[in-house]
Amino acid sequence: MNKQKRAVVIGGGLAGLSAAIKLQSEGFQTTLFEKNDYSGGKLKEVVLGTHHFDFGPNTITMPHVFRNVLIEAGENPDDYFQFIKLTTHTKNEFPDGSHLFFSSDKEEMTEELNRLDSYSAAKYNDYLNEVKKLYQLAENHFLNRTFSSWKDYLSLPLAKAMSSSRPLESLDRFHRRYFKDERIIKAFNRYATYIGSSPFNAPATFALIGHLEMGDGVYFTKGGNHQIALGFEKAAQKLGVDICKGEEVVKCIAKDGKIKAVETAEGKVLEAEAFVLNGDLLTQYPRLVEEKERPSLPDGKFNQYEPSISAFVILAALSERYNVHHHHVYFGDRTREEFETIFQDGQYGIDPTIYICTSSKTDPSLSPVGDNMFILVNAPPLANKGSAPESSMLEEKIYKLLSNRGLPIKDSLIQSETVSPRDIAKRFYAYRGALYGIASNRKKDTFLRPYNRSQDLSNLFFAGGSTHPGGGSPMVVLSGRNAARLIIEEF
Ligand SMILES: Cc1cc2nc3c(=O)[nH]c(=O)nc-3n(C[C@H](O)[C@H](O)[C@H](O)COP(=O)(O)OP(=O)(O)OC[C@H]3O[C@@H](n4cnc5c(N)ncnc54)[C@H](O)[C@@H]3O)c2cc1C
Repeated sequence: MNKQKRAVVIGGGLAGLSAAIKLQSEGFQTTLFEKNDYSGGKLKEVVLGTHHFDFGPNTITMPHVFRNVLIEAGENPDDYFQFIKLTTHTKNEFPDGSHLFFSSDKEEMTEELNRLDSYSAAKYNDYLNEVKKLYQLAENHFLNRTFSSWKDYLSLPLAKAMSSSRPLESLDRFHRRYFKDERIIKAFNRYATYIGSSPFNAPATFALIGHLEMGDGVYFTKGGNHQIALGFEKAAQKLGVDICKGEEVVKCIAKDGKIKAVETAEGKVLEAEAFVLNGDLLTQYPRLVEEKERPSLPDGKFNQYEPSISAFVILAALSERYNVHHHHVYFGDRTREEFETIFQDGQYGIDPTIYICTSSKTDPSLSPVGDNMFILVNAPPLANKGSAPESSMLEEKIYKLLSNRGLPIKDSLIQSETVSPRDIAKRFYAYRGALYGIASNRKKDTFLRPYNRSQDLSNLFFAGGSTHPGGGSPMVVLSGRNAARLIIEEF
């Protein structure tokens, strides 16, 4: 009789859930350990009275990636979650009182650009064509594959793709080739924060995000984006994955160049043939695997990775409804300085850009009384020693800045919760509080992230924002699926 192979997934974020679904549906008896008492990781619902919020991903792109996880497992995604397309998805507001709507409708977007600058409007079609090409390159060469060792980089098509993806130009320079108005450039440059980086350093490769938002569209999940995590969990359980919530893995037991078993905080030991680490590999690999078992990644190497941007978040339950868009960005005056202050000085911007997501504008049932505002300012990741810049005054400062922009929300505040970079590090074991794992400010961190597989332990695989293809909810879902595929091919 053929014994069923066993797999263990450490961490129940989107990457871990997608790996578990794939492995179980391909015949592995899979156990997933999640230290928190819910799965979904950073994609998590927060409830304050009658107000429901998504902490984490508020902007969903590439809905097919989430749907495909379920389709590949033989499930109908419509039974688990439904996406709503937001055509005119974001309102960008500038300090001079002007604004620019972002829309995935080409004609509407061209008219919007034309209101601010006819040159940018005339170049918009060229911009769309170029960002589509960049996306197609990434899709063909990076997104659907794992990188297991340096040998994976030694292919001519890949080298060609890497050189055509504009690795030497910054995102800011790329945008300046198509747009002239500083407000428009500011709005497009904000895409760098989707990968936790600065537009003045991140390579133009990431202009592909423009294709996702402007070409493909921005989506919201009916009932809140956390429905994706709930749907994944439900499907995993239906397929037979054993999901152990509130159970933290504290050790990987290695023998003869392999992981033999994991041990939990309660002393449970579980053996398996293959292991996927979804917990941030930069914090969990050195913690769970003894240094002598991983000569390729000794302790000293981890600190060399630059963490992505972090965030200071206010979840504000309000008694009033305000005139804001589902996604609304209030730009500060000095955005270049803001990025420099964050990445070079490790401090908050003096006049920070404020992003607000009010999902009740699309789904009023999420906060029947008044608005549910998720308010985010970009934050520096924690310093190496773990210290954090002062954020205690930040909440008041944000209310004041918003009030100056005509949004006096403090007057109708029923309840609020704040989340700082230190909270993010603690709740998810995220490397220095990073939202997206490793930043893409340096070329090597963009293209040469840690591989999807341990170089020392042959049955240990990595999924999540700190590995390929990178951070952001669709990317980590791909990484989980890709890591599972590698295991299935090999075992
Ligand atoms: C405030 C914020 C806003 C964001 N906005 C967006 C957005 O608009 N769009 C977007 O696409 N993305 C966004 N992101 C990024 C997105 O949330 C992440 O890229 C993605 O959710 C990461 O998924 P993951 O599975 O890699 O990791 P995680 O979600 O961090 O999951 C890892 C899990 O592993 C668990 N774990 C770690 N160690 C152990 C252990 N030893 N034992 C057991 N369990 C363990 C952790 O508790 C965690 O649940 C945002 C993130 C944040 C925080």
